Amino acid sequence: MKNTADHNSTINHNSTTDHNSTVNHNSTTDHNSTVNHNSTTARSFHQHQSQKSLLERPRRLRQSPAIRRAVRETRLNVSSLIYPVFVRYGQGIREEIPSMPGVYRYSVDMLRPVIEEMLLVGVEQVLLFGIIEDTAKDSVGSSAWDDRTPVQQAIRLIKSIAPELIVWADICLCEYTDHGHCGLLCHNDICDRTEIDNDSTLDCLARAALSCAAAGADGVAPSDMMDGRIGWLRQSLDQAGYTDRLIMAYSAKFASAFYGPFRDAAGSAPSFGDRRSYQMDPANGREAIRELRLDLEEGADIVMVKPAVPYQDIIRQAADISDRPVAAYHVSGEYSMIKAAARNGWIDEKRVVLESLLASQRAGASMLITYHALNVARWLVQQPDL
Ligand SMILES: [Zn+2]
Repeated sequence: MKNTADHNSTINHNSTTDHNSTVNHNSTTDHNSTVNHNSTTARSFHQHQSQKSLLERPRRLRQSPAIRRAVRETRLNVSSLIYPVFVRYGQGIREEIPSMPGVYRYSVDMLRPVIEEMLLVGVEQVLLFGIIEDTAKDSVGSSAWDDRTPVQQAIRLIKSIAPELIVWADICLCEYTDHGHCGLLCHNDICDRTEIDNDSTLDCLARAALSCAAAGADGVAPSDMMDGRIGWLRQSLDQAGYTDRLIMAYSAKFASAFYGPFRDAAGSAPSFGDRRSYQMDPANGREAIRELRLDLEEGADIVMVKPAVPYQDIIRQAADISDRPVAAYHVSGEYSMIKAAARNGWIDEKRVVLESLLASQRAGASMLITYHALNVARWLVQQPDL
């Protein structure tokens, strides 16, 4: 048996950096580690302890690395991973996002190495977000359906390099509007206030989706949270002949403070107000079920919960009601918190990343959108049974 975990335990025993194993090693109360550590005296010591007739001993299933592997309920798989990538205007640009170490904005001409790295480690899905110049933004976000926009160009480039990759295009207007909101604005004369015009936004979203489909995107991922947009996009795509294009709906997208670093990355913070009239209240679980049901009824191929770790209950409920795959978006704030704590030496980055993703999968998500995707894929290559 090529037993990587056994190797790990050997390594752990010698490792001065693995505090857990050091503690276990010295602990007289950890019977398993004493037994595993091969001393016959320890075994006989164990046998001479008074044996209680306990009805249940769940620890039997945790007594060795092989048994633990054999009874694992959830395993990460590289096929589940979706890598979000920011593409921007300009040439020769690869700029790190300060609040997201290890994540970059790329001009389209700099994307090739990213795609080659994805192919190398086996990540087969990319989710594209576009960043344009402020001078190209307008009140309706018309660059969202401009074929020269970075996302559309990136789709074409990726499909020319690696047609087998699954290319998802995020569909929203906030990266393209001069006001930074996800929908068109209108003035409510009765209340004398500016509001988001749900229904006129749908046509703009449809134009953006059709433009990305024409560029070759395998799927669109509408993140705007307007009412009725999944049905509208499905109908628009079908009428244009794109019946094979997937829709991954941001169904339960909460108005979350965890998106902070993304807004830095995409330059998409609203210039006034906030997004709470279209993104969901973090306090509401039943409302999330309603949104999920509507998107399923309107024809979503995949439903998504965003953010991931703080919303595991929603992922679980989504998996319970959905007959289609559920995706979990481990968002920028989740990424940045792990990076920051790891850089301070407060947590073990790899273990926290894997535990976070496993949690979403255990809760019911079979697709995991994460900025850690390439690292996770590399870890999986080294140790396939993570
Ligand atoms: Zn948006």
